[in-house]
Amino acid sequence: MDARAELLEEIEAEFRATAGLTGRPAPSSCVIAALRQVRREAFVAPGSEPRAYDNRPLPIGHGQTISQPFIVALMTELLDLHPGENVLEVGTGSGYQTAVLAELGARVCSIEVVPPLAARAAAALAAQGYGQVALRTGDGRPGWPERAPFDAIIVTAAAPKVPPALIEQLRPGGRMVMPVGEPHGDRELILITKDAAGAVTRRGILPVAFVPLTGGGGD
Ligand code: SAH
Repeated sequence: MDARAELLEEIEAEFRATAGLTGRPAPSSCVIAALRQVRREAFVAPGSEPRAYDNRPLPIGHGQTISQPFIVALMTELLDLHPGENVLEVGTGSGYQTAVLAELGARVCSIEVVPPLAARAAAALAAQGYGQVALRTGDGRPGWPERAPFDAIIVTAAAPKVPPALIEQLRPGGRMVMPVGEPHGDRELILITKDAAGAVTRRGILPVAFVPLTGGGGD
């Protein structure tokens, strides 16, 4: 079996093992297809290619990491995306999660605070055929008002609180996933939904480890 097929089996096993917490016993077929399609080795740091299909986060420089494939799959799954939906990602990082979202047919806007990472992700995304993704370099906590509202928002770095601007920019019927918790304490992946009337509901999904959301002052 090739490394990518083996990784998909591991991801499916982890979905089964965590189903009691997440309520998602398996990734949907479109999420599996997207994970099959995107070449993770094109997004890892140079030299890490042999480990690109390990089910682990990997360093990408500047103290940041490309997220663990299972976590990418779970966060994507929780967004319940439909083709053509408008999605905001805060924390482009390597661009791998960005590519998975684009592969699902979403219109993706992604913000990265570390300029060299933003530049590298832009190059990798363009080289892999995802040049249509809208990228911005800067603090993602204020969201992207010109592109709002969003059907889905994914934050790939952890903070003690959900930035209020992001909740505001979520469309009624929208879904948002983000790791929430104190810097050195436990963090939990949170799913936030906004119903048609605009009422917001939060649900804790799973304990997770994530790099912190930083940048721009006002912490
Ligand atoms: N989805 C990425 C995850 C990278 S780690 C991947 O799988 O590669 C989280 C990223 O969030 C880092 O690149 C970090 O620089 C970025 N980040 C942290 N705080 C941010 C902020 N306030 N605004 C935008 N990006 C931020």
